[in-house]
Amino acid sequence: MLSPEAKCSFCRREAVARIAYAKLLLCEEHYIEYIRNKVRRTILRYNLANRGDKILLAVSGGKDSLTLLDIMYALSQEMRFSVAVLHIDLGIEGYSEQLKHSVESHTQKLGVPLITLSLRDILGVTLPQLSKRSRRPPCSVCGIVKRYLMNACAIESGATAVATGHTADDVIAYAIKSFILQDYSSLSKLVPKTKALQGAISRIRPLYEVYERETLLYSVLKRLPFHHGMCPYVVRNSLERHVKRFFNQIEELFPSTKISFLRRLAKHAETLTPVETERKSIRTCDVCGLIASDHKCSFCKVTESAVGMPLGREVRDYISSMVKEIWS
Ligand code: SF4
Ligand code: ZN
Ligand code: ZN
Repeated sequence: MLSPEAKCSFCRREAVARIAYAKLLLCEEHYIEYIRNKVRRTILRYNLANRGDKILLAVSGGKDSLTLLDIMYALSQEMRFSVAVLHIDLGIEGYSEQLKHSVESHTQKLGVPLITLSLRDILGVTLPQLSKRSRRPPCSVCGIVKRYLMNACAIESGATAVATGHTADDVIAYAIKSFILQDYSSLSKLVPKTKALQGAISRIRPLYEVYERETLLYSVLKRLPFHHGMCPYVVRNSLERHVKRFFNQIEELFPSTKISFLRRLAKHAETLTPVETERKSIRTCDVCGLIASDHKCSFCKVTESAVGMPLGREVRDYISSMVKEIWS
């Protein structure tokens, strides 16, 4: 908590935030501007978006993705790229409805095109049913489905990249986990921008250097209608959560540790996997034509085990009919 005597370093109004790594105290207005500038600098530093690009924003309705939407919309006007929103409705009772409402409310307010893909409409089953039928944990199926739909939607709509709301804390947590598991292939993908490959669109992370605490304060100050609830399947005692807590303590003691870690990761991550090994393990799915590490992609495998046939091709056709003229 800041004392009422704490004043903004720029305008001397009452400060609402202390940015320890930048040695700044900021009022509400300068805080919002500071976070937006931070994202703009990340876009320029890592060449995430250029004039004329079509960026599909993956928005779940939580604080991070609504911050992504809010800032990317503002920057799209200034930097002359286009944005559209993709929301995936997982059909999780008591949770998905509220997320959908949050996304609809803010996209409508900004006037950004919205594509909602509902698992119930596409596959005839919800995420919990898909998980049960394929006998896989919900989060594992969720990851496969979301990655597939984001990629398919971006390709079918002619987007130049998909942007996700992963924050600095998310990337650090995944990186440490990958390091502990000695999974260098996953570690190498934790960059601000992944390259487009055959059957896979480029993915960008504009909040790469924004802390989770910062998206929370941004969402509150801007009164974004984000959903506060937690998914019923979230693992409360995960390694990622402990890493986040640990890094927050380190950051308190040594401000800017997170940013230094991420800049080094961005510089070295792609060199961690020998290119030849990587190239050999990438191919396209025989069923749907999107990226796969085997003759069938994970999405076609999951749908085959859950509903009796691989549905990648059908899903691509369905999305294609939905996204026509989304950028006009
Ligand atoms: Fe999906 Fe919920 Fe698991 Fe997150 S916690 S990956 S939303 S099932
Ligand atoms: Zn100020
Ligand atoms: Zn497939």
